[in-house]
Amino acid sequence: EAQRRALTEANVQREAEIRERVRAEAELMHLATHDALTGLPNRRAFGQMLEAAVRAAREGQPSTLALLDLDHFKAVNDEHGHSQGDEVLRSTARTLRAALRNDDDAARLGGEEFGVILRGTSAADASALLDRLRQEIADQRWDLPDLRVTTSIGFTELLPEESVDARSALRRADAALYEAKEHGRDRILPG
Ligand code: GH3
Ligand code: MG
Ligand code: MG
Repeated sequence: EAQRRALTEANVQREAEIRERVRAEAELMHLATHDALTGLPNRRAFGQMLEAAVRAAREGQPSTLALLDLDHFKAVNDEHGHSQGDEVLRSTARTLRAALRNDDDAARLGGEEFGVILRGTSAADASALLDRLRQEIADQRWDLPDLRVTTSIGFTELLPEESVDARSALRRADAALYEAKEHGRDRILPG
């Protein structure tokens, strides 16, 4: 009887250890794939999402890749402080999440730059959606009355012949983002 009880106890303990290891692994996985400030997927995770979207594009499902970069964000930090800057980043992440459908992906690529993949959406259809998103970001209101935050967006449709790392699509979206900045910011441009 004592031996049976000891065995049961050892089993219970081992199961608890396994549960703890599974939990710790899930936490590590989350840390490795998410951005700590906004909770959004990080650049590494975005690369994998993009790869999946490219594979889908090859099978005929269109997707649009968009790159967003907050305008004059350095000035937000300089004029209102770094923690207000952080709040702007968190709030923008919330706006992104709220604006997108479940199938879509959003990630923080670094600094004040975000990436979005609109699944099953051609560039022509993405245009209205992205301009609404741009408007929502510009319409955010803050505790500080003189704070305004806008974003520039470059976007491009993933092509069936895209390489799996989507390098050229990233280049097209990035060039369009650069153009949007050049043309006065707070705007979207296709590339
Ligand atoms: P542009 O309109 O051309 O994009 O100008 P910009 O000022 O947004 O661009 P720039 O690249 O000069 O500045 C980006 C700033 O973002 C500088 C950096 O201090 C700030 N930044 C990057 N990561 C964070 C962060 O995690 N928190 C805060 N508060 N600021 C950050
Ligand atoms: Mg930037
Ligand atoms: Mg910027």
